[in-house]
Amino acid sequence: MRVGVLGAGQLGRMMGLAGIPLGLNFTFLDPASDACAASVGRLIHADFDDADAFCRLAACVDVATFDFENVPQRSAQVLQKIRPVYPSPEALGACQDRLHEKDLLSSLGIAVPAYFPVNSRPDLLAGLEKHAYPGVLKTRRLGYDGKGQVIIRDQEDLERAWQKLGDFELILEAFVPFEQECSLIGVRGIDGKIKFWSLTRNLHVDGILMVSRAGGFDDALQLTAEDIMRRLMDHFDYVGVLTLEFFVLDGELLVNEIAPRVHNSGHWTIEGAETSQFENHLRAITGMPLGSTVMKSEALMFNWIGQLPDRDRLLAIPGVHWHEYGKTARPGRKIGHASVTAGTSAGLAENARLAADVAGGKFPLLLDSIF
Ligand code: AMP
Repeated sequence: MRVGVLGAGQLGRMMGLAGIPLGLNFTFLDPASDACAASVGRLIHADFDDADAFCRLAACVDVATFDFENVPQRSAQVLQKIRPVYPSPEALGACQDRLHEKDLLSSLGIAVPAYFPVNSRPDLLAGLEKHAYPGVLKTRRLGYDGKGQVIIRDQEDLERAWQKLGDFELILEAFVPFEQECSLIGVRGIDGKIKFWSLTRNLHVDGILMVSRAGGFDDALQLTAEDIMRRLMDHFDYVGVLTLEFFVLDGELLVNEIAPRVHNSGHWTIEGAETSQFENHLRAITGMPLGSTVMKSEALMFNWIGQLPDRDRLLAIPGVHWHEYGKTARPGRKIGHASVTAGTSAGLAENARLAADVAGGKFPLLLDSIF
């Protein structure tokens, strides 16, 4: 079967790596001529709103998906007229605007941080008055990894935030003094069958994911997260992998964000779960039976941002698995990751500490908050 992917970044590349053994082949569409998924398939080098290129893609695939949630919804709709697109353009569109996303979650009875639409400076002042400082001002569209957002703690921040973001459509959120951040990744097949991986704890620095550790949450929280995701999946008649990012506050879950795709916090599933998020996404969208999402081992992931650490020293540590994306290094850019696995939690702590010491930077300190 032939799969088309809008976007050819590392997520598309890992889809390709998981899909080739399933007998799938891949055509990607991406505006970057050096897009890194090109090494696992054919690349159509075109803009995401190039209708001709979409027709060319449609002509050489049986089903389409995306590895990037900011593909214009309109383009996904055009493609859907010719070939099935999973997840649906409707689900894609709902996650592209933070205000619509939060309105949808609220309408389904799912808890989110307090929020307030901001279309003018008086709106911002009114929002801050209502929710009090600190608040987080975010662009409604195209923000990711902490980009397009400013924390407002006082009048000075307010001026700075307005100068930076005042020209955009905005949303103000109450700042959540969370105990933890975590994410749930699930997958729903064309037949409506659903599977979930274990909740994953996430540590960010400056809005960018640095470390994820799978599991370790109590069953009640896992079941609550699954119930939230099931409601969303049923709402969209969803097909494929879906990710929910949560804040844990007073032991309760608040949804921060929906990602209608495979997710950075699920990279541990490649080595740590019976079936990875990438393989199950492809099984779902091509109508194959879903694989087990059970954890095979304790697992944790380090993200390599801007530069790669010493690969060979890391690979000398038991349980370390290396993933390089083939992207040019730039500050703030995700260029690779490593997973660490072990049979026990104590073993994982030991291997992860050795790896964090080699990786250096903030990693040793981040691990202190996990083990
Ligand atoms: P986002 O791009 O919305 O996922 O935000 C990136 C990161 O910024 C999150 O993972 C949090 O660490 C932090 N953040 C975003 N929104 C809030 C909020 N309302 N309260 C506290 N921290 C936040």
